[in-house]
Amino acid sequence: MPTPTRLAPVRIVRVAAAPLFGESPKGGWSNEIRPEDSIHALIAIHTDAGITGYGSVFTDGRLAQAGLKVLEPLLIGENALEPERVTEKLHQNTFWMGRGGTLTHTISGIDIAMWDILGKATGLPVSQLLGGNYRTKVKPYCSLLMEEPALMRDVVAGYHAKGFRAFKIGWGPFGRAHDTRLDEAIVRAAREGIGADSQLFVDAGASDAHWPHGLKWAMRTAEMLKDYNVGWFEEALKPDAIDDYCDLRRASPVPIAGGEVLTRRQSFMPWLSRGAFDIIQPDVTKVGGISEQRRIVWMAQDHGIRYVGHGWNTALGVAADLQMAAAFPGVDLVEFIGGSPYVDGILAEPFVLDENGDLTIPDKPGLGVEIDRDKLAKYTPDPGIF
Ligand SMILES: [Mg+2]
Repeated sequence: MPTPTRLAPVRIVRVAAAPLFGESPKGGWSNEIRPEDSIHALIAIHTDAGITGYGSVFTDGRLAQAGLKVLEPLLIGENALEPERVTEKLHQNTFWMGRGGTLTHTISGIDIAMWDILGKATGLPVSQLLGGNYRTKVKPYCSLLMEEPALMRDVVAGYHAKGFRAFKIGWGPFGRAHDTRLDEAIVRAAREGIGADSQLFVDAGASDAHWPHGLKWAMRTAEMLKDYNVGWFEEALKPDAIDDYCDLRRASPVPIAGGEVLTRRQSFMPWLSRGAFDIIQPDVTKVGGISEQRRIVWMAQDHGIRYVGHGWNTALGVAADLQMAAAFPGVDLVEFIGGSPYVDGILAEPFVLDENGDLTIPDKPGLGVEIDRDKLAKYTPDPGIF
């Protein structure tokens, strides 16, 4: 009988977070992001094998740095080749400090970085480590903020000309102006700007502060969206209104999407078992990373609910989303912010759309992408940690 072999441990010696500043795209939030605000942090995990793994966290970079201070003692010396075990150790030992919040967000970036290391150590892309590849390409949908109708038409047409063939418009004046004719005019303008052949999705962004509408508005609006062949209606209700989401899903002629603010796999259980969504949108840079998201996606699949990852993102977050998109059946889209320097401007080889508006899923080891430190230096004060 052959002697079983195993890879020697790859020990974590250092972990660091780099907050991104200066050119965060507008969020469309009622309290808009300023240049000095950070809403993303990149994570780097250094090991004694000389392999470095990278991850991304969607939160204020100062929180990610504080989260790392708490998590570091649990992480240093750990074997980076065991992402699921190590991530679960972090969850289990910190639940009393507010599970689901900053620590869960920070663990997300750590977990993604450990999967990157496992891939680099074994020479395999993360998708293969997750169990296999269902596809080599996936369509990015270009995520854009709502604008007044004339501007909206020009903005989406500009990205259509760049090769995108799926679009999501959201937030901005939609619903917030209390003008249903304006809401419809924005959606009509977007449909005109991209033509009948491109996919269009609409995001009310009801997880914004003090969302003013309820179930009746959402039902009326869903009827309107049907007329423009909108593929899903996202965050149409306040993020905790689970009963209304269940009712809306059953009444709406267009699919209902949501879940971007949920974190931890356990939080998704009632939403999935009660059938609150047609499409679930966990964010791999918030929910707990790839280890957590893969379990959420399988749970969703078994409940007959589609998975389309949320990603108001960095290039490393997109890279994780692409690996996830490869590894599950029925995944046809990834979110891609239109015009974000943190997505388009930090990789050695930026993502490129093919002639069908699709992205090729990287098949190099780990996440399959490489950070360009000189480019990154424009957006973070201390790129040296990378
Ligand atoms: Mg959204």
